[in-house]
Amino acid sequence: MPNLDDVVREIADEMRQRTDRGAVASYIPELARVDPGAFGLAVIDADGRAAVGGDADVPFSIQSISKVFTLTLALGMVGDRLWRRVGREPSGSPFNSIVQLERESGVPRNPFINAGAIAVTDLILSRHQPREALGEILRFMQFLAQDSSIVIDEAVAASEQRTGFRNAALANYMRSFGVIDGPVEYTLGVYYHHCAIAMTCRQLATAGRFLAHSGRDPSTGHLVVQAERAKRINAVMLTCGHYDGSGEFAYRVGLPGKSGVGGGILAVAPGRASIAVWSPGLDAAGNSHLGRIALEALTRRMGWSIFGG
Ligand code: GLU
Repeated sequence: MPNLDDVVREIADEMRQRTDRGAVASYIPELARVDPGAFGLAVIDADGRAAVGGDADVPFSIQSISKVFTLTLALGMVGDRLWRRVGREPSGSPFNSIVQLERESGVPRNPFINAGAIAVTDLILSRHQPREALGEILRFMQFLAQDSSIVIDEAVAASEQRTGFRNAALANYMRSFGVIDGPVEYTLGVYYHHCAIAMTCRQLATAGRFLAHSGRDPSTGHLVVQAERAKRINAVMLTCGHYDGSGEFAYRVGLPGKSGVGGGILAVAPGRASIAVWSPGLDAAGNSHLGRIALEALTRRMGWSIFGG
C-alpha cells in the first residue's frame, strides 16, 4: 500500500505545477477575486490521521458543498418526507437550469442542483426565522468540523444576493407551484449565506467523516445519521454531486463527491477516508478542473475507487 502522506504531497506538488487550471467562477463577482493558482488537498483516514498538501489550511467559499450538509440537516428534521419536495435523479442539466422545473411541476430533480438546494433550504427554514435557520446550519458545520471558528463570508453572500437573478427566478417559479412555501427572499437569503460559508480543506474533510464511516464520526463516536441515511446521501452525491459532470466524475474518480463553484470538492471513500480538495479554476460543467484530476490521481494511486482499484 503506498504511503498516504507521500501520495498527497506528490499530488499537491504536481497540481501546483500545472498550467491548465480552468476558469475561476465570475458570475458571483466576489469569487472572481480568488487566486487561481491556489491548490489544497486534505485526506483524513479512518484512524483520524490527516494527510495534507498545498493550501489545505486556507479558507475558501464552499458554495454548493454546503448542500450536502443542508440535505443531512433537513433529512434529520423532516425525514423521508423531504423527497416529496425534491427528487433524487441526476438532472443532465446545468446547475442553475430552469427547464426541468417546467416539465415536472416545479419539483427539482435532486437536492444538489440550485433549485433542489433552495427547496431544501426552504424546508429548514419552515418554523424558523432566517437568522435561526442560518445559525443552525453554521453550528452544524462547526460541530462536524470540530471548529467553532468557521464563519460565513458576508462579502460573498452579499455579492451573490446582488447578482442572483437566476436563483431568484428558480425560487419564484417553485413558489408558484407551492414547492417552497416561505417568503422567497428569506429562503434565498439563507441559501446564499450557507453557500458563503468559508472553510479549509482540512475542516471540510473533517466535517465529511460521518459519510465515510456509516454515519458516525469515528473520532467522537457520535452518530450523526443512521448508516442507512449516510449510504443514501453518498448515493445522491455519486449520481448528482457534479451536475451534468456527475457521470464523468464517477467514471474518472469513482467516489461519491460534491463540488462547489468556489472550486472545492468533498469526496468520500467509504470505510477509508474523507477527502477535500480545492482549486478555484472550473471546467465547463462548473466543477473544479484540477480538483477532479487530483482526486482521480489519488484514487488510482491508493486503489480507493468504490468500483474496484
Ligand atoms: N451559490 C451558488 C449558486 O447558487 C452555488 C453554485 C455551485 O456552487 O455550484 O449559484
